[in-house]
Amino acid sequence: MNYECERRVAIEAVIKACRLCEAIRAGELSGGIMEKQDKSPVTVADFSTQAEISLDLLGAFPDDSIMAEENLAGVPMDLKEKVVEYVSTISPSLTNEQIFFAIDRCNCHGGPTGRFWVLDPIDGTKGFLRGDQYAVALALVEDGEVVLGVLGCPNLPQDLKQLNSSRGSVFIATKNQGSAIRLIDNPSEQMIKVADIADPRMASFCESFETTSTSHRKSARIAETLGLKKPSIRIDSQCKYGLVARGDASIYLRVPNNSGYEEKIWDHAAGWLIVNEAGGEVTDIYGRPLDFSIGQTLSHNTGIVATNGKLHSKVISGIQQASEGN
Ligand code: AMP
Ligand code: MG
Repeated sequence: MNYECERRVAIEAVIKACRLCEAIRAGELSGGIMEKQDKSPVTVADFSTQAEISLDLLGAFPDDSIMAEENLAGVPMDLKEKVVEYVSTISPSLTNEQIFFAIDRCNCHGGPTGRFWVLDPIDGTKGFLRGDQYAVALALVEDGEVVLGVLGCPNLPQDLKQLNSSRGSVFIATKNQGSAIRLIDNPSEQMIKVADIADPRMASFCESFETTSTSHRKSARIAETLGLKKPSIRIDSQCKYGLVARGDASIYLRVPNNSGYEEKIWDHAAGWLIVNEAGGEVTDIYGRPLDFSIGQTLSHNTGIVATNGKLHSKVISGIQQASEGN
């Protein structure tokens, strides 16, 4: 199975979604933001992106289920009307009901058998609202295994050291076929590989910008234990997996603040495959493989460690050592 058709449809859908997000961000967002029950923000762009990708997948693969982060329960009518307005700029002939159905049909619970898509329409909504990094993350899971990942990063500079370099990259990985990168506006793809670094002193590490997603205090201690010399790169969303896959960082640490949180699979599925296929490794903080076969969360795992592979066992030992020093 080479997933050629799925790959093409997923890339097109993610690119359309990236363009839509940037158009929404450039326009009027007031009245288009609300707080979810968990106090995190969600915007008209999250819902519009979910509708657009769901519609594209429905057209190409009508039998496939989708698991996605958002649903319309409790969303006020004025915000829903804004969603219709934005989705209609791409798909003008749809009724409100068709658009709302497209969002709410993404209610798959996952599990060990069958095939389903996993979508985070805007991963890093806080970064999106701040004008920083965010990602449109789409993956395909078959029998509990991620087989395709497409990560659109509309605001990610091509060269992190040159902030005026062109922005907007898409990372693409298919199982056993490697990882590639392309620009949103240019279809030519290049294969990518993780950094060839075995000495932690030479390594850069990245982590979430938000301290709600990861403990900066614990990661600083781990970095010190490992002898990392460079300051951490703090950015939102699965862009962090992209940085490891293309060699801008060699380590991504996500160290839980509280023991109770279960990572959602839409926050990791696409990025997991992109790093693995670029030659890296992704586990939890105890070195256990991530298990995408249980449902909507990585309930058998704690935190995340993604590396270039060569550093992986050193990082896992460093985490162990740093926690013993607590
Ligand atoms: P990041 O952009 O790396 O900060 O990750 C953002 C994602 O973190 C959101 O999409 C949430 O699903 C997820 N999230 C929410 N609460 C937590 C938490 N306590 N620990 C880890 N991740 C979380
Ligand atoms: Mg997310």
